[in-house]
Amino acid sequence: MLAALLRAAASIEKEGRFMDCLFCKIIAGEIPSKKVYEDEYTYAFHDIAPQAPVHVLVVSKKHTPDLAHADQLSDAELAACLRTCAKVAGELGLEENGYRIVNNCGDDACQSVKHIHFHVLGGEKMSDRMA
Ligand code: AMP
Repeated sequence: MLAALLRAAASIEKEGRFMDCLFCKIIAGEIPSKKVYEDEYTYAFHDIAPQAPVHVLVVSKKHTPDLAHADQLSDAELAACLRTCAKVAGELGLEENGYRIVNNCGDDACQSVKHIHFHVLGGEKMSDRMA
């Protein structure tokens, strides 16, 4: 009972973040990250286990679990995610040769962190298959 209450308390939403969410903690600076870019709506940082020479995660500052819940974000918040992907790709020199944006949504896509985010991948020629 107490454990269940503590778990519930830990996941309480406060000002658009979830207290036990890894990416909410990174955005708040409670867990270190290699920041690439930040604005009002988004935060971008290097993936801890890169799958390409450049692998950056772009996350919405407002917590929502995945793209299926995108209606919990305003149009401005959602659009900002894609704008930040393009901005980061440009700043990291990916524009000329191109890059890939990936969003994993849900279990079949192997989404491991339940906070909406987009992978910016580039720096090498990728597979012509999506995954
Ligand atoms: P996904 O599987 O689409 O949910 O992507 C989650 C990503 O978060 C994976 O690529 C992980 O390598 C990455 N990740 C997990 N923990 C951290 C962390 N502390 N800092 C940076 N990236 C992380």
